[in-house]
Amino acid sequence: MSTAARRDKVMDWEPGTLPKVDYGAGCYIFDTDGRRYLDGSAGPAVYALGHAHPEVNEAIKKQLDRIAHGYRYTFTSAPLEELTAIVAARCGGGLNNMTFNSSGSEAIESAIKIALQYQTAIGQKSRRLFISRERSWHGNTMGATSISGFAARRAAFEGALMPSNLISPANVYRPPSGYLAKSGGKIDPVEVGKYCAQELEDKILELGAERVAAFVFEPVVGAAGGCVPAPPGYAALVRAICDKHGVLMIADEVMCGSGRTGTWRALAHDGVEPDIMTVAKGLGAGYVPLGGTIYHDRLKGPMFAKDGGLLTGHTFTGHTLACAAAVAVQNVITRDHLVEKVHDDGLHFEQLLRRAFADNPHVGDVRGRGFFWAIEIVKDKLTKAPFDPSLAVYQRFRDRCFANGLICYPVGGNVDGKAGDIAIFSPPYIATRDELATIADIAKASLDQVLADLA
Ligand code: PMP
Repeated sequence: MSTAARRDKVMDWEPGTLPKVDYGAGCYIFDTDGRRYLDGSAGPAVYALGHAHPEVNEAIKKQLDRIAHGYRYTFTSAPLEELTAIVAARCGGGLNNMTFNSSGSEAIESAIKIALQYQTAIGQKSRRLFISRERSWHGNTMGATSISGFAARRAAFEGALMPSNLISPANVYRPPSGYLAKSGGKIDPVEVGKYCAQELEDKILELGAERVAAFVFEPVVGAAGGCVPAPPGYAALVRAICDKHGVLMIADEVMCGSGRTGTWRALAHDGVEPDIMTVAKGLGAGYVPLGGTIYHDRLKGPMFAKDGGLLTGHTFTGHTLACAAAVAVQNVITRDHLVEKVHDDGLHFEQLLRRAFADNPHVGDVRGRGFFWAIEIVKDKLTKAPFDPSLAVYQRFRDRCFANGLICYPVGGNVDGKAGDIAIFSPPYIATRDELATIADIAKASLDQVLADLA
């Protein structure tokens, strides 16, 4: 199997089929053949501080020399308590309670269980259903896949998943067909937001509010949609609908959170506070496997009164070494004002990408926020018709970028033939303006080469 084809298999790894990673330095990765790559996506939007950050490495070594892990039933730890305080301060408001585990998927599983535990604790045990959105991705475990609207990743498991209740994603570039029929094809972002929020209320009423535990969504959609920010007003409308019907709001910020979109909480941009929130990728920045589920003060009281604590946890929950690494990561992010940097340099990155792709007849959309941007490659800019998926345009683009020394998000592309080929750029927060310009330059040249090959 070719390297390109191999890269498209999720877990199908074989020695010798991909370059072997050797070491990293800042925004660069080197393979064992001595080739250098600019990490334009921070891997899967993870490596917020780039690679081999000396302060994080030092903190990990120091903790390891003391103890790797104090098991949660026996001990708490200074790193766990410190990380809890840092995350609570970053979140603000009532988001003061959390549990840490080892991945984004586990964070989502905990969010699902906390929602169910809370609804049971307040006497709403009939609320067992979840509503989520098409073109979303919440993780690989069965609960997380069940609430994900990513058809290709669900297909093999259909029949064994929890029931799914999907509504439209609030994507301004590709609004629901019902909206377009109503508006006569005109797209008004605020109206798209209203239409999509109304879909949530309609779905709650269709299922029966007394059966719905929570609504789960990505405030800025990641891998399944390609950096789709919500239209203005959408999140606030969704918040009000959830409150009206006793439905919890779960913000999946595994990918878009921890500062990636220029605010520590992605949903802070919309002025909205969720009941439950998940984080992962940027939290430990890839130095350790780590995810977190954060829940509001108002949920804690009833659950702890009834059950004495959370009814979910893993062997590695609150892992001491992982927490120590994340404390070091978050301290660097805070000290170096990197969230503010992502916000400010994100505006610059946006200009670079718009300039690189504005005149390209096959780039239909450039969208995102902060250091989280995507381009949508289409066959026809006017009709938004995608290229035939069999052409694997995104895979060609990604592999051409790679050959030119740039890593862009390794999975993506045209997942269902219903949208264009999506390429994500999500650099480390430490990327300089020169490095951002190099990303845009290589991406532009690579796309030009791919389109020339296809012509
Ligand atoms: N939620 C979102 C929004 C994600 O992007 C991902 C991973 N891409 C997950 C959950 C699952 O995280 P993990 O791969 O760490 O299990």
